[in-house]
Amino acid sequence: MKNIILFGPPGSGKGTQAAKLVKKYNLLHISTGDLFRYELGNNTELGQLAKSYMDKGALVPDEVTVAMLKKKVEMNPDVNGYIFDGYPRTVNQAVHLDYLLKGKKQKVSGLIALDVDDEEIVKRLLRRGETSGRADDKDEKVIRQRIKVYEKETSPVFDYYDLNKKSTKVDGIGSLNQIFNRLCEVIDKV
Ligand code: AMP
Repeated sequence: MKNIILFGPPGSGKGTQAAKLVKKYNLLHISTGDLFRYELGNNTELGQLAKSYMDKGALVPDEVTVAMLKKKVEMNPDVNGYIFDGYPRTVNQAVHLDYLLKGKKQKVSGLIALDVDDEEIVKRLLRRGETSGRADDKDEKVIRQRIKVYEKETSPVFDYYDLNKKSTKVDGIGSLNQIFNRLCEVIDKV
């Protein structure tokens, strides 16, 4: 059983790589961003609430996000493991994830951070915004705010798992397959 946190700033390629990794390792891909966008597409109360934060490049409050993640994990108990993409984004969310997995007699196997510099991220997200239909990819101000939030609130999650030697950095620049192979090398060892 492998439970992997695919980590890194917005636009670092987590979603793209997660889609490839779940096929190879037969894991369940859980992206909290996708879950919020699904709710938004169905115009639910949760979706509307999330939108008010997403549009500003802010994090949705932990209590909402933690509950949504827990529900998704509990709905899918019989899997080979999970790839968490875009979660945890705060140390508090990480503590909750550890607790949730402990209840299932499991743990986080490893956190892998895709390393991409800020200017490359801005370029990638603006390009993605031309086709993704995501409001938060269209506005450079919102993109820069998301990077700021990542640095301040999310990057401490790397250090949190690093305390237990579970965090690894991987170069996020290169071809899709090069990056995929770098990730697989780490996953095969955890
Ligand atoms: P993403 O698709 O992962 O880039 O997420 C898009 C947006 O959804 C983020 O900018 C946040 O507003 C929200 N979001 C996604 N995951 C989380 C999370 N774990 N905690 C708080 N907000 C989140």
